[in-house]
Amino acid sequence: MEILPWTGEHRAFREDFRGFLAREVFPFVDRWESDGIVPRSAWRAMGAAGFLCTDVPREYGGRGLDFLYSVIVVDEMAKTNCYGLSPRLHSNVVVPYITSFASEELKHRYLPGCIAGEIVTGIAMTEPHAGSDVAAIRTSAVEDGDVVVLNGQKTFISNGTNGDLFVVAAKDPATEDPHRAVDIYLVEGKTPGFERGRRLKKAGWHSQDTTEIFFHDCRVPLTHRLGGKGSGFKNLMRHLQPERLVVAIGAVSAAEWVLEHTISHVKGTDVSGRALSSFQHVRFEIAEMATEVRIGRTFVDKLIADHIEGMNVVREVSMAKWWTTETAWRIADRCLQLHGRLGLDESGPLARAWRDLRVTRILAGTNEIMKGIIARMTGV
Ligand SMILES: Cc1cc2nc3c(=O)[nH]c(=O)nc-3n(C[C@H](O)[C@H](O)[C@H](O)COP(=O)(O)OP(=O)(O)OC[C@H]3O[C@@H](n4cnc5c(N)ncnc54)[C@H](O)[C@@H]3O)c2cc1C
Repeated sequence: MEILPWTGEHRAFREDFRGFLAREVFPFVDRWESDGIVPRSAWRAMGAAGFLCTDVPREYGGRGLDFLYSVIVVDEMAKTNCYGLSPRLHSNVVVPYITSFASEELKHRYLPGCIAGEIVTGIAMTEPHAGSDVAAIRTSAVEDGDVVVLNGQKTFISNGTNGDLFVVAAKDPATEDPHRAVDIYLVEGKTPGFERGRRLKKAGWHSQDTTEIFFHDCRVPLTHRLGGKGSGFKNLMRHLQPERLVVAIGAVSAAEWVLEHTISHVKGTDVSGRALSSFQHVRFEIAEMATEVRIGRTFVDKLIADHIEGMNVVREVSMAKWWTTETAWRIADRCLQLHGRLGLDESGPLARAWRDLRVTRILAGTNEIMKGIIARMTGV
C-alpha cells in the first residue's frame, strides 16, 4: 500500500512534467553545466507551463495545488541530474516567505511574476563569517524614516546572478539580543546599493549560479520587512522544516535514479566474459543500496504525509535530511565505483551526481547541525 494518497490528477501532472523536462531541460543540461548558469528562458518556460509555485493560492494567480504536486516536481527534477534550474529553492523555500509574511499589496505585486517565472527568487542568509550560525550575521539594517538601510555582504547565494527578488536576513545593530536583532526583508535586485559580486566556482552544482551579494546603503521600504520586528530569526527557523524536507525528498529521488542507472550498467556490461551483475560483490552492493533507498523512500513518504497533516516533525525532518543526503552521496560513490573509470568520465552521469550530492550534506543546515537538533530534541 502506498503511504501517499496519489490520485489520477497527480499522475497526469507527473506525466506532463516529464514531457516538459524531456523537451525543455534534458537536451540543455550539459550546456548549462558548462555555462555555469541556466538561461532565464528556462525559468520562463517552466512558469508558462505551470510548474512553478504550484501551491500558491488562486487569488494571486497560482494553481492552489496540494503539497504532493511540489513533491512530484522535486522528485522529477532530481532525475535531471542538474541543480541549476531549481524550482525547489524558488517554489518551496523562497516564495513561501512571501505567501506567509508579505502584505497583500506585495503578494499581488510579486507572486504572479514568481509563478510565471518572470521573477526568479533567492534567499540571502549566509555571510563570509556566518553560515550555520545565522545569529552571527553582520549585515546591518538601520531604520531611517519609512525605509531601512542595508549594509553588508552575503556569499554563496543561489540564483544570485539570475535572481530578481531576494529574502535577505539582516540585523538591527541597536538590538542586543542576537536572535531578536535579526529581521528578514524582501529586496529587489535592481534596488540601488544592491550589488552582485563574483559567481563562485564550486565542486558541484555547476549550473547553479551561486554568487556574492553586497549591500552599500541599500534603501528598502520598511513595508518590505517580512513579519513583525524581531521575528526574523524565528520565521527563518520555522521555514527550515519544509526546506529540509524537500532536500530529503530530492536526495531519495536522486539515489533511486543513480541506482536504476547503475543496475542497467551492471546488467549490460561484461567483465572477464561475465556480466558484471553476476559477481557476488556487485549483487550484494546492489542489494544493500536498494534496501537503503527503500528505507529512505518509506521514511520520507511518511514525513510528507505528516507534513501535509500539519504536524510538527522538525526532529524527524532533521533525521531525514542528514540520513538521506549522507546515504544518497554514499550510494552515488558506490555506484561510481561499480562503473570503474567510466564513473569518472564527465560525459557520463555518475561523476556529476557524485559531486552534486556531496553538496547536499552541507546546505540547508549541515548534517552536523541536523544531529545537534536531533540530540537536543531527543533530550540530550
Ligand atoms: C551550493 C551551495 C548553495 C548555497 N546557497 C545558499 C543560499 O542560497 N542562501 C544562503 O543563505 N546560503 C546558501 N548556502 C550556504 C549554506 O547555507 C551554508 O554553507 C551552510 O549553512 C553551512 O555554513 P558554512 O558553509 O558557513 O559552514 P560553517 O557553519 O562554517 O561550518 C563549518 C563546519 O563546522 C560544523 N559546525 C558548525 N557549527 C556547528 C555546531 N554548532 N555543531 C557541530 N558542528 C558545527 C559544520 O557542520 C561544518 O562541518 C549555499 C551553500 C552551498 C554549498
